[in-house]
Order: sequence, then C-alpha cells, then structure tokens
Amino acid sequence: MDVNALADGVADGDRRSLARAITLVESARADHREQALALLSSLRGLDRQALRLGLSGTPGVGKSTFIEAFGCRLTEAGKRVAVLAIDPSSARTGGSILGDKTRMERLSRDPRAFIRPSPSQSQMGGVARRTREVVALCEAAGFDLVLIETVGVGQSETMVAQMCDIFLLLLAPAGGDELQGVKRGIMEVADLILVNKADGDLKPAAMRTAADYALALRLLRHRPQDPPGFPKVLPVSAETGDGLAGAWDEIASLAAWRRENGHWQARRADQARGWFEEEVRQGLLARLSREPMRGVLERLGQEVAGGQRAPEAAAAELLAMVGR
Ligand code: GDP
Repeated sequence: MDVNALADGVADGDRRSLARAITLVESARADHREQALALLSSLRGLDRQALRLGLSGTPGVGKSTFIEAFGCRLTEAGKRVAVLAIDPSSARTGGSILGDKTRMERLSRDPRAFIRPSPSQSQMGGVARRTREVVALCEAAGFDLVLIETVGVGQSETMVAQMCDIFLLLLAPAGGDELQGVKRGIMEVADLILVNKADGDLKPAAMRTAADYALALRLLRHRPQDPPGFPKVLPVSAETGDGLAGAWDEIASLAAWRRENGHWQARRADQARGWFEEEVRQGLLARLSREPMRGVLERLGQEVAGGQRAPEAAAAELLAMVGR
C-alpha cells in the first residue's frame, strides 16, 4: 500500500481514499498498524480542525432522523459533514446502528457528507481508539463538522464526551413528570439538551420536558467552560425541522465563545493528553497479553496462587521486566 498516495487522497478530500484510510486504521494487523501510524502522522501536518460534535440518545429518540435533517441543512449551507457512530451493541449483534441502509438515506447520498458505521469490536477501549483516529482522518480530509453518534449504553457517552468539542443530548418528550431516568453523569457533560419530537400531539409534552430539564440544569454546578445560559435546553422537531436552525446557532455561538476564551484549546489539549495516556495503557496491556510476557504472567500467577510467592513481590518482578 502506498501510504503517501493515500495521504494525498485524504488531504484532497477524496471520499474513497478516506474510506480506505479508515479501513487501514481499523485493521488489527501489525503491518497495517505501522502504515496507519505513518498515515496519521503525515496528515497531522495539515493541522485542519473540524467542529467535533457528540450526540447521544437512547434508541427511538430520533437520532437518525435528527442527523439526516440537521446534516442536510448544513451541507446545503456548503458545509462538509462526517458522521461516525459508536455502538456498544455492535459487537453483540455483529451489525451496526448505521449498517441499516434505510438510515439517513438523503445524507448518505449527499456528496458533501460522509457516513461511517461503527467498527465492530468487542472492546470499548479499541472502539475509542479507532474512533479518535477516524475523527483525525476526517479532519485531515477537510470536513467542517464531525458528528460522533452513540446510543449511550455503558461507557459510550463518556467516551464520546472525551473526544468531542460540544456534546448534545437528544431526548424524547416525557410522558409524566419523571425525568426519564437520564443519568446524572450525562447531564453533567451535556452542552445542549435537545428535546425532540416537539411537533403535533407531542408538542405540549416536549415543552414541559424542556422546562423540567431547564430547571434540573440550573441545579448543576456552573462549569467554567460555559458562557451564561449554558448548558441549554431546546425543543426541536427533527421531522418538521422546527428548532434545528436555532440549535445550530446555539452550537456555533458556544463554539465561538469557547474559542475566544481559550476553553476550546484547553479541552483539546486535555483530550490529547488523555488519548496519549490511554494509548500507553493499552499498549502495555497488549504487551502483557503477548509472548514472552504472557508466559511470565502465567507462571508468576501460578506461583502466587500456589503460595510460593507474594502477590506484591511477583507484580514488582514482572513490572521490572516491562521497564522501570
Ligand atoms: P433513533 O433510534 O434514535 O435513531 O431514532 P429514529 O431517528 O430512527 O426515530 C425513531 C422514531 O421516531 C421514528 O419512527 C421516527 O419517525 C420518529 N421521529 C424521529 N424524529 C421525530 C420528530 O421530530 N417528531 C416525531 N413526531 N417523530 C419523530
């Protein structure tokens, strides 16, 4: 594989090159890994930045309808939009939430858009790593917006929050007065809560839900990375398009404010450091699961279990072999 030619293709925004580059970074083969690292490092020189937008919501809340409507609006305005998905269930089902061709039909045919299904990998750590790299590839390919979608099961929304600039939470109108069992953790990382389906019969319930969440948000501690009024709640309708322009205005103004006040750069710097540390952790774990370390781990484990060795002494011995 000619990595330089591939890098040129990606840098030119060629979608087929981008798709091939993504396949390369998703590959588990050692020689592919080397090429992927060379590709990523040559593309870093371009220093292109997209707006990384995270989007989380439970199945059925309207994520695909929203991304389709929102994405098409942005591409009509001349922006290039990439959509990636993190789906913790894909390992189980063997498919992916974007595998279904009926999702985002218009957007997937749009030449200014690029949609990539979730990689099917069993480990969340592996998914996070690949997704970060795919985001970097999309930025190098000149996309203005990279939307990272997740169904928010388990750790996936925390993971998405750690790789985006702005995090959106999509909710459906609540039936009664309950706050939909939204985890507190997710409320704390959301920048904008969109209550979808604010149309027709559901509109009053959506307005009520939006008001409830606005109240709940006021009880959260103020975050330094927020201008006054954020995090915010907005009712929208992905189906009619109501509120989508307003949602984009809020996103754009929040992004601008964070850039002007240094929070954007600070967050990206933090994320880069976290990414680096995670790579090191994963690399060390991978080394422990390969020979010769795997055999040493096994042997010491048996000795610990058999009482010939103390756990802490065995651990120290093994760590000394990995390096000081
Ligand atoms: P996802 O599972 O989160 O991707 O949700 P979908 O986008 O597949 O939508 C789930 C269902 O909600 C579908 O039947 C949609 O037609 C419907 N839906 C999505 N957005 C809206 C909306 O704004 N208003 C109404 N009334 N229905 C919507």
